[in-house]
Amino acid sequence: MRSDEWLNAKLEEVWQVLMPDVEKLNKVSVVFKGNWKTKFGHIKKMKDGSTQIVVNGLFRNEVVPDYIILTTIAHELIHYMHGFHSPYPKRFRYPHQGGIVDKELKARGFGVLLKLEKDWVKNSWVEVISSLKGNAYASYTQDSSRRLFCF
Ligand SMILES: [Zn+2]
Repeated sequence: MRSDEWLNAKLEEVWQVLMPDVEKLNKVSVVFKGNWKTKFGHIKKMKDGSTQIVVNGLFRNEVVPDYIILTTIAHELIHYMHGFHSPYPKRFRYPHQGGIVDKELKARGFGVLLKLEKDWVKNSWVEVISSLKGNAYASYTQDSSRRLFCF
């Protein structure tokens, strides 16, 4: 099973590759949490001013490929860069308006990962998530969260 330490190391790696030009203005950490059937993760500003990225706790299991976690982290970091749940000024009114996240990811060379992710979601998500989850329930949160069916 993957650990939160592993996850934080990936955060640093993804940051360096995805957006070395974007300065880290506050403390940013990432944790595995929840076990969602319809969500990959979300980003949240904490009371102490730090930013926390949450990745679906089901993704601890190695049956979920690394690239699913990397794209989830990358997606949330684009929100950070756009000023959602970060100290940066908000650049857009809504976090997903006009496909801004995927556009930015593609512009920064993450298009291949997005394609892999899309294929995995299409072909494997339901089976994998069902096998990892005993009790099926869906969890819904605020608009900056990432939903399975928002692609
Ligand atoms: Zn999002």
